[in-house]
Amino acid sequence: MDYIIGFVEVYHDPMSQRGSYESIVQINDFEASERMKVLGENAQWFEDNSPLLPNHKKKNVTGVTYKVVNTAGESGDASPSTPIGVNLPNSNWIRQKGSKSVSLGNIEDAYSKSSGPGLTLEFAHDPEEVKMSEEHGDLAGKLTTALHEVLGHASGVLEPGIAQPSVTLPGYSSTLEEARADLFALYYIMDPKLLELKVMPSLEVGKAEYDSYIRNGLMLQLRRIKPGNNIEEAHMRNRQLVAAWVYEMGKKENVIEKVSRDGKTYYDIKDYEKLRKLFGELLKEIQRIKSQGDAKAGKALVENYGVKVDQAIHKEVLARSEKLNLPPYGGFINPRLVPVTDSKGNIKDVRVEYPDDFTKQMLEYAKQFGFLK
Ligand SMILES: [Zn+2]
Repeated sequence: MDYIIGFVEVYHDPMSQRGSYESIVQINDFEASERMKVLGENAQWFEDNSPLLPNHKKKNVTGVTYKVVNTAGESGDASPSTPIGVNLPNSNWIRQKGSKSVSLGNIEDAYSKSSGPGLTLEFAHDPEEVKMSEEHGDLAGKLTTALHEVLGHASGVLEPGIAQPSVTLPGYSSTLEEARADLFALYYIMDPKLLELKVMPSLEVGKAEYDSYIRNGLMLQLRRIKPGNNIEEAHMRNRQLVAAWVYEMGKKENVIEKVSRDGKTYYDIKDYEKLRKLFGELLKEIQRIKSQGDAKAGKALVENYGVKVDQAIHKEVLARSEKLNLPPYGGFINPRLVPVTDSKGNIKDVRVEYPDDFTKQMLEYAKQFGFLK
């Protein structure tokens, strides 16, 4: 068992200084952790073969530990809406010495089992895309999270004398850091090395991830935004930044085609290999921005690609997804852990109960743990 408890993630502070309280109590999933272990073991290979500029690569990738865990309970910023993975610490100067990552396996499972195929059927361009998502979507999602957390966040070095990104890239460091980690994962999920390491059966897994990332970054995630608003949240800015940038850069060679059919918009990836190259280029550039503390370039990337919402597409996405009646966020009910004691009051066991009423659980928490009179 392990836990993350404290004021850790800084995503809610635009200045990336103040941590929000969160707690996650977790149990190791030994089997799944074993399967993903090879990624951490090969961390140096991934770093050496990445498209980063040579002086931005870590010479000794050390201390990356990665586990797939099952969440037993969450609170604070991690609940009722929860992350699917956590990488700590956030501070670059500590991260240079090592980092620790977890993927929340049962949360990932619950997300994929509860969402159903509705959104994919509505927004995927063609039946082939739907089939790839059905066959490989689950694994693609899990592998991407693993690559993002264990290799992505742990990769790269700052140039000598360059301060922390929260200092050099104020207001933009979280978005750029998430983009960097996503791009690392996207670049490698189409790499034959993953077949050699036997973590996935074919490159189709990577293609399924590319389809879903572009669908989400350019369309689906807009479900979470109210009409007329811009994108504020760091992860969402990052996803649109990445998807919109590769779409634009690949336009001339028709890497991703924007298709209109029966009044609906679709994005169809025409060339997965070229798309992979574009992900690699953007990864190199964002690492350069971080390594050199290039605030001007960082700001331009985020503001030009990650913030503004295409109003027409937004309207369309809201209309198309409204019909499916799928909420844009998932909330989770915590299990209740009830100690089982013997006659002397010693804890002998813990019984897991599964409450099924969200409102009731929230009111119960307020009553038991609320600080306000
Ligand atoms: Zn991340």
